[in-house]
Amino acid sequence: MEISGTSIIGFSSAPQSDTSIKAVDPSTGLEIEPSFYNAESEIVEQAATLASQAFLVYSKKSSHERASFLNEIATQIESIGAALVTRAMQETGLPEGRIKGETGRTTGQLRLFASLIEDGSWTQARIETALPDRSPLPRPDIRSMSRPLGPVVVFAASNFPLAFSTAGGDTASALASGCPVIVKAHSSHPGTAELIARAVQKAAKITGMPDGVFSLLFGGGRTVGSALVAHPAIKAVGFTGSTAGGTALMEVAAKRPEPIPVYAEMGSVNPIVLLPEAVAHNGDAIAAGLHISATMGVGQFCTNPGVVCIKKDASGDALVDHFVEKMKDTAAQVMLNPTIHRAYKDALSKMQANKSVTTLVSGSAGDNDSPCLGTAAVFEASASSFLKDESLSHEIFGPGTTLVRWENKEDLLAILESLQGQLTGTIHASGTDWENHGEILEILERKVGRIVYNSFPTGVEVCHSMVHGGPFPATSDGRSTSVGTHAISRFTRLIAYQDSPQSLLPDELKDGNPLRIVRLENGKTVEATI
Ligand code: NAP
Repeated sequence: MEISGTSIIGFSSAPQSDTSIKAVDPSTGLEIEPSFYNAESEIVEQAATLASQAFLVYSKKSSHERASFLNEIATQIESIGAALVTRAMQETGLPEGRIKGETGRTTGQLRLFASLIEDGSWTQARIETALPDRSPLPRPDIRSMSRPLGPVVVFAASNFPLAFSTAGGDTASALASGCPVIVKAHSSHPGTAELIARAVQKAAKITGMPDGVFSLLFGGGRTVGSALVAHPAIKAVGFTGSTAGGTALMEVAAKRPEPIPVYAEMGSVNPIVLLPEAVAHNGDAIAAGLHISATMGVGQFCTNPGVVCIKKDASGDALVDHFVEKMKDTAAQVMLNPTIHRAYKDALSKMQANKSVTTLVSGSAGDNDSPCLGTAAVFEASASSFLKDESLSHEIFGPGTTLVRWENKEDLLAILESLQGQLTGTIHASGTDWENHGEILEILERKVGRIVYNSFPTGVEVCHSMVHGGPFPATSDGRSTSVGTHAISRFTRLIAYQDSPQSLLPDELKDGNPLRIVRLENGKTVEATI
């Protein structure tokens, strides 16, 4: 499949514009052909208007038709084959196994959402039938369900070129619920984005979806993204990236004459609490697991463990020594792009210059001359230093870990209480550790989206029960998740139909339950019957 470098507007391609960018191979620092042309303001206008028109048709497609579309996207992505793997590896520096694994996760997500909507129970259909003889007032017939919001803008993530990008989780959940999608490609992997977008375009044509159900726009310099979020046709936003980017887009959305929801997943340090008995009995295994989790994907995961709370005692010291040895022996690896590499180096320099922090592993340049090498780093701070300096709780995006040494329970609880909202919180406990666990759990339940026991936060299962979210600033809206099928509700809203003629109701709400879905009927859950 050839890469053209022009934005995709529904079933058409945008013309080339006057400005363009090229992707950079992070392992060499060299530009990769071809050029990708920035979408001008009229292209933003065209894509948004077309998406708005497509919404009128697409939102009325049956669940079965939308599921066929999602399944076909998965098939078309698989059919790209080696060209996708080669391009994604070149643009991101990620190894073949990771790209292939992420492709499987992406197609798996699309198929999971397809199977979810094949059964319309996700719409939360509720019915209260009329009580005309009720005294003192009759009750009308009221039926409600979730309906799609309208066109959604999805910002592709730099650190997941497939699973959180063009046809990633946000795109899958928006298309599943009946919303057209416009993707703002990430300038770090535009060729990968185009290959996937062409697969989506082809699937839309094969399955008879309306022109404009999907578009992909290229563009850097913040202008395309801001213009899309500000456009009146857009009704919601999905974003994964920096705190600065996410909060800037929240502001654009909030200042519109009609404010819209922004689901932004931003930074997180994913605190890990190591309790003393677990460390005493299992210290070596915990150090080994922590090392794998901290360096996986060169630490460029939103669930990377950035802050680890370890008691200042002999077992804690032994665990730290073991972890430090492993981090020192970790080879430098290529990071995703020069910007992320620069940000990582800056963060390490700040930590090294901080007098209240001890640098245990400062990293080295590695033995090849890649300009984007990320090297593992470990810092140590006392509980009191950590509590005095808020900057120590900031995310270091890369394989850098801060160990916070606490001496008593009060310290530990104060450290956890000082943290802002997080995607995850992890507890390692054993034996008598469980006696103190209640207070820790009480704090974590207020602070995080997912609590992990005796394991590590990296590796987010895509399933019905997953919550990949958390209170601000981990995300813009802690009530939602960007992984798993709960995500389908983020691009919907409830609509009630009062005394509606049967023929005008969506099938999910009709008498006789023609779709055989789970519904709440007059306060009772009615199971689907075949
Ligand atoms: P980013 O700078 O936030 O950019 C992500 C996307 O948002 C890009 O398409 C960018 O558009 C757009 N954008 C950013 N700021 C914007 C603004 N003010 N107005 C309009 N659009 C805006 O994220 P990144 O490039 O992926 O990585 C940069 C840093 O983000 C990393 O170093 C890391 O610290 C953090 N990050 C965190 C996570 C996580 O999961 N926690 C994931 C990825 C990145 P343009 O192309 O126009 O700039």
